[in-house]
Amino acid sequence: MAMKKESILYSLGMHDPAGHRYTVRLEILHPDPKGQTLSLPAWIPGSYLIRDFSRQVETLRATRGRITNDGAVNGWAANGRAANGQSAGAGGRRGRQLAVRKVGNHSWRCEPCRGPLVVEYTVYAWDLSVRGAHFDQSHAFFNGASLFLAVEGQADQPCLLRIEPPAQRRDWKVYTSLPAADGHPEAARRHGFGMYRAPDYDALIDHPVEIGTPQVVRFRAHGAEHELVFSGAAPNLDLARIARDAQKICAAQIALFEPSSKRAPFLDSSDHYVFMTQVTADGYGGLEHRASTALMAARRDLPTIGSEPGASYQTFLGLLSHEYFHTWNVKRIKPAAFAPYDLSRENHTRLLWVFEGFTSYYDDLMLLRSGVIGRNDYLRMLAKTISAVHRGSGRHKQSVAESSYDAWTRYYKQDENSPNALVSYYTKGSLVALGLDLLIRRETAGAHTLDDVMRLLWERYGRDFYRSGAGRGLPENAMLRLVREATGVNVADFIERCVEGREDVPLQQLLPQQGIAMAWKAPSDTPTLDIRTRSQNGQTQIATVYENGAAHAAGLSAGDLLVAIGGLRVGEPATLDALLCAYRPGDSVQMHVFRGDELRAYTAVLRAPAPTECELSFAQADPRPEH
Ligand SMILES: [Zn+2]
Repeated sequence: MAMKKESILYSLGMHDPAGHRYTVRLEILHPDPKGQTLSLPAWIPGSYLIRDFSRQVETLRATRGRITNDGAVNGWAANGRAANGQSAGAGGRRGRQLAVRKVGNHSWRCEPCRGPLVVEYTVYAWDLSVRGAHFDQSHAFFNGASLFLAVEGQADQPCLLRIEPPAQRRDWKVYTSLPAADGHPEAARRHGFGMYRAPDYDALIDHPVEIGTPQVVRFRAHGAEHELVFSGAAPNLDLARIARDAQKICAAQIALFEPSSKRAPFLDSSDHYVFMTQVTADGYGGLEHRASTALMAARRDLPTIGSEPGASYQTFLGLLSHEYFHTWNVKRIKPAAFAPYDLSRENHTRLLWVFEGFTSYYDDLMLLRSGVIGRNDYLRMLAKTISAVHRGSGRHKQSVAESSYDAWTRYYKQDENSPNALVSYYTKGSLVALGLDLLIRRETAGAHTLDDVMRLLWERYGRDFYRSGAGRGLPENAMLRLVREATGVNVADFIERCVEGREDVPLQQLLPQQGIAMAWKAPSDTPTLDIRTRSQNGQTQIATVYENGAAHAAGLSAGDLLVAIGGLRVGEPATLDALLCAYRPGDSVQMHVFRGDELRAYTAVLRAPAPTECELSFAQADPRPEH
């Protein structure tokens, strides 16, 4: 592959772990002669909320550098940088300070100069999430969207990233899917410090980096190398067990999309895939990238050596499966609105039900297909999803297409009323995928499945996305046509009702054909107030009042602190259930609550709990192998 010369170099320094500050030095050989604009992304792809990463940039100054031509490689001096007069031994004049001013929330403009332009800044990094950057004495983790200023007008240019070794920690290693700058004199070796290379800015910020002394295990799936990296305390972590299960999941997904070649999708961007997991007491979450993923996992969800993993291990495997599936679905098969991303503002699409919903359908399904979980486990997980979707009245007010579009202002900004106002494009989207799969199977007598749709999407939009230079995205209205092309089935009515419309997916009718019976039951016999609660300093606070429920009818509100029921004190949420046990549905009960600092009394008529829990079971002794 012919390499374009890099004319942009980022150098990352880690000198202040106690203050959680990274130092970035950006050198631009050919800045805009009219004054270079630099900007940080307003959001990070995969997480649809404006995050204003620029607010963590503390100091930023620009100088005019100087290029030395002794032993220049790729336009850079032998030590890999455009020589700046201030660098010791560079032998040049002192670089001239240039004026820089803010030109928008995320952008800076530098005084015109002929180049090279050298910009130095520090970034505060104390966000232990999959979206941001984190740095202390134990490790460093970052997404490039938090650290690296984009050079306006040169986003399509290849760039170099030098990761400098921290002085205090000689034992730290670098884990990332970002390729090393092979051929460069400072090229990093695998897991080493030194020079890395990205073909453009979009790629630079799509390979997060973990640096430290994590626990690591490797496996191959259809020949492709995968690495599982765990940072944070996790004593006796059963790495072999996790690698064995992850291997099956990855292999099954590769075979789903590429049944003949079995080619892993990330090989267009990296020679290996990295799962980088931050282990904490109760973390959960993931963010997908083109050849890696950043995960947060709760310690209790991970298996330990010598004991059989608990049920919550499936939660971790489901997350891992979900993010890996995104390697195809959203990192390469993308909505047109994301091709390319506009990192300066919200990018709206009505298709997140395809990209998050279908991914949520396949994450657990691939656990089943790869043999990592059994059929009964799968039915339990599916029933849980169905129950969650059906719990709130919001599903009658918002379609999954609308929910997708409003991700930025509603799904990512949930409040106490969200169950009454929103539907999740994740969970309902996964039921839409299930419904489509069942419909396609029924209409084609099993000759086709949703897999055929995924493979057509992959072939049409995904496989060459990064190879073709300017990958195309999926048009907003293309799904109907693509399902028909892949399977011959017309799903217009289903899409109209369950995707664009607000109807429930008709699973009661569709599941029996797969030998699965569906029933609804009440979660318990205890009469209910139809609220969600949370513990607040040893007391019970109402988190959500379900619309048209007993608490709604009584006049209770989210935020109310429950003081007493029937004259008896309410303590922690568990005591509320114990008190309610004494009553029967239809009983009137006096409620005392604090709303703010005002004591108020209400009368609630308790109700029998609604049958909100879905139960799935195999209707016959010899069920079909799938679903
Ligand atoms: Zn996702």
